[in-house]
Amino acid sequence: NEVLIEVENLEKHFKVGKKQVVKAVNDLSFSIYKGETLGLVGESGCGKSTTGRTIMGLYEPTNGHVLFDGKNIHSGTGNMKTRAKNMQMIFQDPYSSLNPRMTVQDLISEGADYQRIATSKKERKELVGTLLETVGLNREHANRYPHEFSGGQRQRIGIARALAVNPEFIILDEPISALDVSIQAQVVNLLQELQEERGLTYLFIAHDLSMIKHISDRVGVMYLGRMVELTTSEKLYNKPLHPYTQALISWIPLPDPRVEKNRERIELRGEIASPLSPPSGCAFRTRCPFAMDICAQVVPAFKEIEEEHFVSCHLYEKKN
Ligand code: SF4
Ligand code: MG
Repeated sequence: NEVLIEVENLEKHFKVGKKQVVKAVNDLSFSIYKGETLGLVGESGCGKSTTGRTIMGLYEPTNGHVLFDGKNIHSGTGNMKTRAKNMQMIFQDPYSSLNPRMTVQDLISEGADYQRIATSKKERKELVGTLLETVGLNREHANRYPHEFSGGQRQRIGIARALAVNPEFIILDEPISALDVSIQAQVVNLLQELQEERGLTYLFIAHDLSMIKHISDRVGVMYLGRMVELTTSEKLYNKPLHPYTQALISWIPLPDPRVEKNRERIELRGEIASPLSPPSGCAFRTRCPFAMDICAQVVPAFKEIEEEHFVSCHLYEKKN
């Protein structure tokens, strides 16, 4: 597997008021392989969007770094433009992420103009027409405004806008969460087709595991600013190791009603702790059915305990 993005000991902390600090992202280390879809899942406030935005370069990391094809995206001169060309981000709400006063033509061609991919008016018109068709819209719609489209259509415009600069890597931050269920599958299918045609690499952020089950090659699960498990979809859905992942998986509805009725569901006690004052040691310990003494004292290391299966939990520490 060829690595496209390398995230090394990434941390992002935000100051809140005068004294408090939210440790939104702590010590994340993982790779994203060329051509894969890496799903990133967790409850709201777990740091998944902050992770996406920091990888994208929208935030400076507090510590650690992100390498794109071996190059640090947060340092060096003249790499802003390279980054904008190679990496794109698609947001949850296509309405608020598209400027309402710009036509579809201008929205889609803005980046391509900046990158000098399409420099003449004629080239830009042609580029936008082709992209609209690529995402399943009509090229005649280029002169319309975002409010004239449905939510699903607006997300297609967002996708066309991202594609305009020929990126290699796209971060999708809950791109289908705001859409009707019937539309979600269509957008996911489109994203998969585009990935195959263009060899794209995706980081697909979602708040629930069932949503990304079919699109992800590998999945990472985050809890309170840390990665707790990362492995192939196959292993994650069939043999989750971290108690938090096990609980999440136990709640995914199954198609077979007989199995569904008899299965065991893992109820988590308590609420997710505040990111302002996370528990000592393992941040999940206040809800974990298996918590031991050591869990309050030592942060479990994020370790590869079998091939392509990373987990941070003291239950598995001994096995190494
Ligand atoms: Fe539970 Fe301890 Fe593992 Fe944390 S480290 S998930 S508290 S067993
Ligand atoms: Mg794929």
